Amino acid sequence: MLNGMLETRHRSMSTFRFQNLSKQGRIDHFVSTRIGGLSSPPYESLNIGFHVGDTPETVLSNRARLAGNVRIPLSDFVVAKQVHSGTVTIVTEGMRGYGAMDLDTAIEETDATVTDVPHLCLTVLMADCVPVLFFDPRKRVVAAVHAGWRGTVKLAAQNTVNSLRENFSCDPADILVGIGPSIGPCHYEVGPEVISEVEETFGSTDGYINGESADGKGHFDLWEANKRQIIETGIPGQNIEVAQICTYCNPHLFFSERHQKGRTGRFGAGIMVSA
Ligand SMILES: [Zn+2]
Repeated sequence: MLNGMLETRHRSMSTFRFQNLSKQGRIDHFVSTRIGGLSSPPYESLNIGFHVGDTPETVLSNRARLAGNVRIPLSDFVVAKQVHSGTVTIVTEGMRGYGAMDLDTAIEETDATVTDVPHLCLTVLMADCVPVLFFDPRKRVVAAVHAGWRGTVKLAAQNTVNSLRENFSCDPADILVGIGPSIGPCHYEVGPEVISEVEETFGSTDGYINGESADGKGHFDLWEANKRQIIETGIPGQNIEVAQICTYCNPHLFFSERHQKGRTGRFGAGIMVSA
């Protein structure tokens, strides 16, 4: 256990799962760590990002290890080129395996994916940004979102719920959400340019920005900002589990861009309908 998340150790690799999603049948999900891979510093060791300067062959080996560990064929993974947008893409059967083995085939320019196709593992990559996983047990639809500060103020998570409603007739009351490990309010200091965007989007900085200093800096609570925008769509607060795990506070376990001052690897979060 690390805060509320359930840990699975299998052949020297740890993965984490949300408690609320783990109680559900017919889905698989995971949050990977940086432990149990083959990459050298600064990507040690389970880096699954092709775009960060690591050797592609090693990244592919790491992904194969992770896929084996979570027992989901790598060819069923779907990965996007994340661009800190609020864009949501519906993933269809024809996109199976996009971005799984290389960067070229990754879905273009999106930070949120949604699907009702079984055995299609929607995967987001992080090193401080927030992974948000969604599951509607009634409609059997899943979604995965990557939200840094930009994606958070562009309402990527809220846009995803809107897509679930509009395209899959999901009732927000049914949807379960996991907000995963990312840089926490303890360590995410931001400047005035970010704070003004927060105020513009949310109408206030109360509860979003903590400990504002005289020079206009403050600590952005990405977990709260994502949770609140999800609650606004009608998803009950009790359906939303926040891992409360800060990547900066746990640099041995998760990649943290801030902690490693830029050059680092990526861990992943994935979710799929399994039956
Ligand atoms: Zn922290």
